[in-house]
Amino acid sequence: MSRQKRKQSLWLYYGVSASIVLVTLLMAAWYATDRFQDFFINHLQTTLESRAITVDQAINDELKSSQTKGACFVLKISDPSLRVTIVNTDGVVLCDSDADVKNMENHTDRPEIINALEGQRGSSTRFSATLQTSMLYVAIPQIRLGKLVGVIRTAIPLNSIDSLLDELYQQLAILIIILLAIVFMVIINIYRKVSQPLAEIVEEANHFAQGDFSTSLPDYDIKEIAELGGALNRMAIQLDRLENLRQDFVANVSHELKTPIATIKGYVETLLDGAQHDPADLDRFLNIVLKQNDRLAAIVDDLLTLSRLESAPITQLLELNESDASHLLQNSAENCQARADAKNIVINIKCRQNITIQVDHSLMTQALINLIDNAIKYSNENKSITLSAEVVNDQVWLSVSDEGPGIAEQHIPRLFERFYRVDKSRSRRIGGTGLGLAIVKHIVHIHGGQVDVKNNGSVGCCFRIMLPRSH
Ligand code: ADP
Repeated sequence: MSRQKRKQSLWLYYGVSASIVLVTLLMAAWYATDRFQDFFINHLQTTLESRAITVDQAINDELKSSQTKGACFVLKISDPSLRVTIVNTDGVVLCDSDADVKNMENHTDRPEIINALEGQRGSSTRFSATLQTSMLYVAIPQIRLGKLVGVIRTAIPLNSIDSLLDELYQQLAILIIILLAIVFMVIINIYRKVSQPLAEIVEEANHFAQGDFSTSLPDYDIKEIAELGGALNRMAIQLDRLENLRQDFVANVSHELKTPIATIKGYVETLLDGAQHDPADLDRFLNIVLKQNDRLAAIVDDLLTLSRLESAPITQLLELNESDASHLLQNSAENCQARADAKNIVINIKCRQNITIQVDHSLMTQALINLIDNAIKYSNENKSITLSAEVVNDQVWLSVSDEGPGIAEQHIPRLFERFYRVDKSRSRRIGGTGLGLAIVKHIVHIHGGQVDVKNNGSVGCCFRIMLPRSH
């Protein structure tokens, strides 16, 4: 039991793709800004640390010149936003470049100072109560002769970083919007190029399904869709052709059946109208009725053969066996012998070597009988017919050659079509159904072979069945 799969519109796939793109963009932006922020803070910390070292150096020099207090202001000239604070080991602020030390509380509780007092570099980001702004602090221990003597802290306000990051976020947001606009445009474009042609193809296929082959699909830009459209157009042409063939065939069959039925009706009515009382008429008319009936039976027989050849899957139909080619020709000839004898026609068989082929014996015999019967039917009395088998390259050729009237070249291309006859009235007169060659063609095709005909120079023609050797 097959459950029908739920169908999703292409739009869903477009939406999912767009969402994936959006989420990926946002994640990439978030990651990039996060990394950038880390990198930036790191860089600032290193800068602040090197500034603190410079201050430490300056204090060292000033100690020699005994002017310690000025050290806080050493860097103010070159870097006005830089704040320098010097704290002793008890956390008492000795000097601050941006505030009055008298108003400043003890700094032992500041995280960066705690770290520095432990002998490490300390850093922290905080709101400064003294300066009323967010700041980044870096503090380093001040060591003299291997002994901790205090802490030097440098700091800068974070508002400059914040505005820098704000600017970055803004630019990223613009970039994301532009990228999304591009994705959206690409999706719209894909929709136009994919969904629209698909919708047209569906509509056209529905026309074809209703038997309307008047329109065809244009050539599309996308290769796969163009191929689909092309395949559908070719299918439509084929269906149109088949439909015409079918209509022709039905018309032909009806026409073929109509004549004998009308003839039978006519003679039976004549008999009932009184002709039955004249023994000569009775005998003659009943013979005509019988002959017409035979004709009807022959047509129906051939139609059934054709429909069997066409409807069954090939493997089911074919009973392939190793057959000897000369045997095949002999069997077929024997089947036609009586009809040949009636016209004093000799059937010769030419087969020099032992040729074996894989064929369905009864079907291939039927094809050969059809060809030999035609040769007998269309030849005059006292002629001869030659059957031959030969190996040519990787094929086996079975030929039926006669000394009849031959076939005018213009008829040859259509000769193997159903009900195609060169001379309609002659064919009917001698009991032809117009289906013999169509049956031959079918049988040969399902054996993977081909059949053709050519005229034998001045007299007669030769039908040739070409079969693959390694079938
Ligand atoms: P039919 O029953 O009319 O013979 P076929 O399909 O067997 O139908 O043959 C189609 C037409 O091909 C015939 O009507 C005839 O005009 C032509 N034909 C077939 N075989 C020969 C032949 N050996 N010589 C001349 N014409 C032939």
